[in-house]
Order: sequence, then structure tokens, then C-alpha cells
Amino acid sequence: MEKIYLIFLGPPGSGKGTQAQMLSAKAKLPIISTGELLRHEQEKNTNKGKMIKEIIVKGKLVSNKIVEAIINKRLTAKDANKGMIFDGFPRNKNQLRHLTGKLGKNNVYAILVDVSDKEVKRRLGGRRMCACGATYHLKYNPPQKSGICDLCRGKLFIRNDDRPKVIADRLKLYHQQSEPLIDYWLKSKRLIKINGGQNISRVRKDIEKKIRNLGIKL
Ligand code: ADP
Ligand code: ADP
Ligand code: ZN
Repeated sequence: MEKIYLIFLGPPGSGKGTQAQMLSAKAKLPIISTGELLRHEQEKNTNKGKMIKEIIVKGKLVSNKIVEAIINKRLTAKDANKGMIFDGFPRNKNQLRHLTGKLGKNNVYAILVDVSDKEVKRRLGGRRMCACGATYHLKYNPPQKSGICDLCRGKLFIRNDDRPKVIADRLKLYHQQSEPLIDYWLKSKRLIKINGGQNISRVRKDIEKKIRNLGIKL
């Protein structure tokens, strides 16, 4: 069977992680979230972990070398035999080249979650995270019990890069380095554009509909 690769694009806070998790359950494809994997790496008290932590807290990009090594390792894992969902990668031209070199062109699609900068700031301002990877929003997607994860009962926290100054820097970097990649997917006719400004369930329905239209079973 041919593998399927779905790549989420969009600014920080557009809802990529939220949608990737729901799509992963529906399509039975695992997720590679570079942000998530890097956050695990930074918790280790190693020199590499400390270096990653310093970069993430400033809202800058971790080096291609480190991120690409993470991707390579994840792509050879056992559960990758049906394909994968990518969240947060590729984020610049070199990473795009790395990925297309690995995957080729067959059954690779990019899903752009299109959201304005203003809405992104609202979303990131109220984001709450759990160590298990679950994501909530104080207003748009609150947990059943305030401050507690519905899935694992863990205590929710604010990511240290979800501060207004760092959010502004991450957005700037997105527009400079990641947004230009949309053009590649558009030109290769592999772009699925979604109005990400809708509520979570409407965005989800749109994504599922457009994926089914490609002949991919969900
Ligand atoms: P968001 O979901 O808000 O866009 P992520 O969880 O994807 O944030 O990423 C958090 C941080 O991890 C980024 O700001 C960056 O420092 C680092 N990071 C994640 N993915 C990459 C990548 N592909 N290349 C370089 N750095 C990355
Ligand atoms: P990303 O992975 O793109 O950084 P997240 O999935 O973490 O984005 O979502 C950012 C914040 O916005 C989270 O607090 C999440 O609960 C919330 N969110 C996600 N999708 C929507 C939506 N369609 N409408 C409102 N809030 C949303
Ligand atoms: Zn949890």
C-alpha cells in the first residue's frame, strides 16, 4: 500500500496541533510534531537540551541539523509504515528540501490552516498545555475542570514562548521563512487550503471533507 503524508502548514497558534491530533485518530496515522519532540528534548538536562531550551524560549528556530535528525529517526520508526502527519515541519527552505528528498512526491499533501495574525494572538494568549501533548484554550476549548487535563488529569501550564513579545517574534519568523513555502505546495498542486478562522469542529469537518475528496479513506 502506498504511504500517505499530510503536512500541516500555518502560523503558530493557527490550530495545527489541535487538528493534527484529531486527524491522526481519524486517519490512523501517527504525528511527527517537531515542537513536541523538541520540548521533550529540552527537558533532558543535557547540553543539547539546554541549547534547544534557549532557542525555543526566544521564539527562534532550532538548527536544521538537529530538527532533521529528529525527523529521520521518527520516519524510520515502526509505526511510520502507513505514512505520517507532520506538524511544525518543514519550516524553511532547507527543511522542505530535506523532506521532499525523503518522501518523494507520491501522496504528499500540505494542509494550510489559514488564520489572521490578530486571531493567532488571541489563540496563543489563551493556550494552555499538558505535558501529555493535549492542548486547550481558556475560552475556545476549555478543559472540563479548570487547569486540569481531560485526558490524563495532568496540571495545565502556559508555554514559556506564549508571551506577547515572543509571539510577535515567532509570527515574524513565520512570515519570513515558513510562509514562502506555501508557494511550493501550490505550484505542485498539493495544497489544501482551509479557512482556519472557523471554530475547531468546522475546521475539522473542512479538513476531513477535502481529504476524502482526494480519495483518501477516513
Ligand atoms: P507552534 O505550534 O506554536 O507553532 P511548535 O510547537 O511547532 O510551535 O514549535 C515550538 C518551537 O520549537 C518553535 O518556536 C521553534 O523554536 C521550535 N521548532 C519547532 N519546529 C521546528 C522546526 N521545524 N525547525 C526549527 N525549529 C522548530
Ligand atoms: P498550533 O499547533 O498551530 O500552534 P494549537 O493547535 O496549539 O496551534 O492552537 C492554538 C490555540 O488555539 C490553542 O489554545 C487551541 O486550543 C486554540 N484553537 C485551536 N483551533 C482553534 C479554533 N479553530 N478556534 C479557536 N481556538 C482554536
Ligand atoms: Zn494530559
